[in-house]
Amino acid sequence: MLPGVFFSMLVILSSCTGKKTLRFEDFPKIDAHVHINTDNVAVMETALALNFKFLTIAVGSGKQENIDKQLNFAKKMQDLYPNELAYTSTFSMENFEKPGWQENVIARLKKDFEGGAIAVKVWKDIGMTFRDSLGNFIMIDDPRFDPIFDFIAENGKTLVAHIGEPKNCWLPLDSMTVINDKKYYAEHPQYHMYLHPDYPSYKRQIEARDNVLEKHPDLTLVGAHLGSLEWNVTELAKHLDRFPNFAVDMAARVCHFQVQDRQKVIDFIKKYQDRLLYATDLVVNNNMDNEKRIARLEDEWRSDWNYFTTNDEMNSPNVEGSFQGIGLSKDVLKKIYHDNAIKWYPGSFEQ
Ligand SMILES: [Zn+2]
Repeated sequence: MLPGVFFSMLVILSSCTGKKTLRFEDFPKIDAHVHINTDNVAVMETALALNFKFLTIAVGSGKQENIDKQLNFAKKMQDLYPNELAYTSTFSMENFEKPGWQENVIARLKKDFEGGAIAVKVWKDIGMTFRDSLGNFIMIDDPRFDPIFDFIAENGKTLVAHIGEPKNCWLPLDSMTVINDKKYYAEHPQYHMYLHPDYPSYKRQIEARDNVLEKHPDLTLVGAHLGSLEWNVTELAKHLDRFPNFAVDMAARVCHFQVQDRQKVIDFIKKYQDRLLYATDLVVNNNMDNEKRIARLEDEWRSDWNYFTTNDEMNSPNVEGSFQGIGLSKDVLKKIYHDNAIKWYPGSFEQ
């Protein structure tokens, strides 16, 4: 046997034992929650070089005009990268109380699905911004949304729901569990619900989203940001047990795993390995410094990867003190980084 052949057999054998370190760049990955609002291809090219695909999400239930702008960027990018990028639509709350609102939304979503949208997003402005003519907040379990959710379910599309906020939003700054939440709410007191007791409570936000899951068992629902139950994996597990049609993405919430009991987090991820989607919540706009943003994204991707794949002691700018990686197996990583996005968003990527 030639020495070269013997050496390559050894390499193959060592990779079969599973002990070979997984290389970040080689592992096929999907970032299942980003906002690509640019026609600059730099971020897509970085993603491709690192073996990432994107689900880009339209967001904001205000003006249809703003939604159309986002959809135009998404379609342009999808024309350029048909197998590497999928996108969601969303709908506008304009004229919510006027007759014909539901029919208009359904007609528009039908067009969006025909055009290639694979899911529909609902955002936290439903529940935290829009009020009806009596001054009451319009919550996501309002029966006026039901025909729309039925339509999404009938078409085999997914609803991705960012409803409510992290529980920290309802706590005083010094009780918040992660540094990024402390900073964000210190800078945006208007969104800090602890200061606005007249707004719907955290409990009411979660209950409203749960009511949607309860009323629409045939609707596939991905809760963005760990379904706003980021603060406690035991609590999140209860909701996943109760609603088989519910999965969650991790967008901007990996730090909330890092501040919880490590073994509980490992057990949780192993048990719910079919219902967790890796995501970052990256935002890229045309007017941003793309280079800086992309460098930061790559840092985030790599540090999340180290957290999920190694048992190393590490630090994060979002977490006080150090914490240890959780060394997940290759099978679990394949699901959370890739397969679950395809499963929970039918019509995306390889299908
Ligand atoms: Zn987002």
